[in-house]
Amino acid sequence: MNPVTDQLGRSLTDLRVSVTDRCNFRCRYCMPREHFDQEHRYLPRADILSFEEIARVVASLGPLGLRKVRLTGGEPLLRSELHKLVALLHQQPELEIALTTNGSLLAKQAGALHDAGLTRLTVSLDSLSPEVFARMTDSDLPVTEVLAGIEAAHAVGFGQIKINAVVRRGVNDHTIVELARHFKGSGDIVRFIEYMDVGLTNGWRMDHVLSGREIVERIGAELPLEAASANYTGEVAKRYRYLDGSGEIGLITSVTQPFCGDCGRLRLSADGHIFGCLFARVGTDLRALLRGAPDDAELAAALHDFWRSRTERYSELRSTGTRHLRRLEMSYLGG
Ligand code: SAM
Repeated sequence: MNPVTDQLGRSLTDLRVSVTDRCNFRCRYCMPREHFDQEHRYLPRADILSFEEIARVVASLGPLGLRKVRLTGGEPLLRSELHKLVALLHQQPELEIALTTNGSLLAKQAGALHDAGLTRLTVSLDSLSPEVFARMTDSDLPVTEVLAGIEAAHAVGFGQIKINAVVRRGVNDHTIVELARHFKGSGDIVRFIEYMDVGLTNGWRMDHVLSGREIVERIGAELPLEAASANYTGEVAKRYRYLDGSGEIGLITSVTQPFCGDCGRLRLSADGHIFGCLFARVGTDLRALLRGAPDDAELAAALHDFWRSRTERYSELRSTGTRHLRRLEMSYLGG
């Protein structure tokens, strides 16, 4: 099977795999406690794909053009022995294997993940202020634990780490310069993310969004910046370099400057449904096919046909007219 493009000519290059819909944080913008409480029904264990099933999907996507897999969730490090999945995926040595984590369990697992072949790490960290961090994540975990996780990851051999910070106006926007300053000169890259209208539980409003432009202006006013060109086509973050040569930041502007035109990301939920967009309303059930003992050609054909018919470009169409549409939660779909 050959590399595949969708209805808008976009190649399939990336897969995001949600390995669990559970998380130990209750970030207000993602899994607000009043919705994700004792009553919330998480996916039953039997519905969740095994590591072997995930690896099989990944292997089938290789010939279709896949270059990178990102493990996410929920909190991926809650999935027991995640390094074993990394090792399975690493059997395809040309594949880049990345992980997005809240960092709370990273210090304990960094060594095993590195040894298993994890290539890249992204750690979510919205603020260094203990009060703001606690309010945003709605957790008791001190922010110093996340910083310790980042340090431990460097110590076991991870190079440049990306730090993801969601910015909400009136909540953590007054701490973004401090966050940028902390990592300036460290080799790690902070990527500021516009708060997105994912899911239906976070009460998103446009006036909660601090635009990428405003973020750059505020940081640049104290730590001068210039725009830099993309490292590769389809790079999610827009790059800005510090004028004094001490590194860069990234901006993920999916609300004010959407980038659907380059999007080559397929998503696989923990229960084996595939989605062509973070804002897709329904997925295609791959688990039923996987568990029906298909041969390799059958599985590859299903994935090929799914991508071939893909048309989604939600962020470019976002408007008041899309507000009422059903949207799945990021903790289920994989952030
Ligand atoms: N638990 C892991 C973590 O915290 O990185 C992985 C899953 S989390 C859903 C992935 C990323 O999505 C995090 O960086 C998180 O901040 C981001 N995220 C969640 N909800 C968001 C929203 N409404 N807008 C923008 N980013 C969001």
